[in-house]
Amino acid sequence: MKDIKCPLCGNPLKLSTIENKGKLHFYACYKCNYQLRMSPHKDFALEYAKIFIFKFPPIMRVNVGDKLRYFGLTDDVVTVIGKDMETCKMRIKYPEGDTYIITPDDVCEWPWELEEKGGAEQ
Ligand SMILES: [Zn+2]
Repeated sequence: MKDIKCPLCGNPLKLSTIENKGKLHFYACYKCNYQLRMSPHKDFALEYAKIFIFKFPPIMRVNVGDKLRYFGLTDDVVTVIGKDMETCKMRIKYPEGDTYIITPDDVCEWPWELEEKGGAEQ
């Protein structure tokens, strides 16, 4: 699976392990300095990280380089090439090279929705 990224700074969340009467795993952002819930199971630690990220609004969860589909001229999947969290606007690029500014309201499928359908090619 792809890196899971910190919704605050966009850096990848890192999987870390500590020893405490057995191994405990957790995800953390060492730039923003927080760590998520621990579990003896890596899968659960990943679930906790996903649940945390899911609580943030889409504009914070989308990252430069992600692909999404929006209510644009064509049905193409476009790539996010920039975002501004203060104005809530994203710059997107068509495969042909045209770029546009869109807002979250313009998006019909976010990257994680595309992934669910298995339609996003990496
Ligand atoms: Zn962070």
